Amino acid sequence: MTVENNSKSKVVLITGGSRGIGLALVKTFKAAGWKVAACSRQPINKNLDMKNMSDLSFSCDVANKVSVIEGIDLVIKRFGRLDAIINNAGIAGSNTLELEDDDKLWHDIIDVNLHGTYYITKYALPHLPNETGRIINIASVLALIGVPDQTAYTAAKHAVLGFTRAVAALAASRQITVNAICPGWVRTDMAMGRWKEMNLTESEIIKTIPLGRIIEPEEVAELALFLASPSAKNITAQALTIDGGALM
Ligand code: NDP
Repeated sequence: MTVENNSKSKVVLITGGSRGIGLALVKTFKAAGWKVAACSRQPINKNLDMKNMSDLSFSCDVANKVSVIEGIDLVIKRFGRLDAIINNAGIAGSNTLELEDDDKLWHDIIDVNLHGTYYITKYALPHLPNETGRIINIASVLALIGVPDQTAYTAAKHAVLGFTRAVAALAASRQITVNAICPGWVRTDMAMGRWKEMNLTESEIIKTIPLGRIIEPEEVAELALFLASPSAKNITAQALTIDGGALM
């Protein structure tokens, strides 16, 4: 299969671009000829990789509506267009509904993963071009199954998938495609933090994956690049699982 690449001068906004899957998205889209705008919460001078590898990097908290509006304005002022958004920013955390816990972690996880995806999509959608516009949401296999101690994260990612399908229906009349990528274990700080929390080694994790390997961030980025390409113009409202067969 030949993947069409007419990315010259197209602009993508990648949230959570400072590390992990987001940084791999920045590198992959840049290498494919896209103009890349990337953001994360940390001050830009703390995010040198993202700064050096993107065309525009800025601080933005996707859970904050004003911050999102300002960030998207910045992208439009700089490039005069926005062709694709990748809602990648996310946080995870364990919450098992213990009565003594406060509700902060629940709200933070829903705010970043769900409301962040909502705000970026809402304020970017009017700028996306008819026919070629793309929205790609990085969900998770936890958009499809539940895990006992990940109540907020599972709820948020299921909601991101529901939102993906609703926006796909909304944007279809403009021929804009909207899809979710649902990764299993990807080798990033987030995943490695979780393995530590579960007291499991990498080789123990690998035993739970039929294909027997941890996914590299760049492999998720390649799938996103395909979804952003003209070759994927007939794919919308989908949950594309990349998990080495874990949900088999
Ligand atoms: P990392 O923790 O390595 O990176 C998360 C990124 O999101 C960072 O750039 C972080 O930067 C940014 N971020 C966090 N909160 C915000 C916010 N409020 N506003 C803007 N940026 C924010 O995570 P991964 O790369 O592993 O995860 C990326 C996405 O993939 C997430 O949505 C995650 O849920 C999903 N995913 C990951 C899997 C894995 O195994 N790694 C599996 C399935 C899904 P900063 O701290 O500077 O804000």
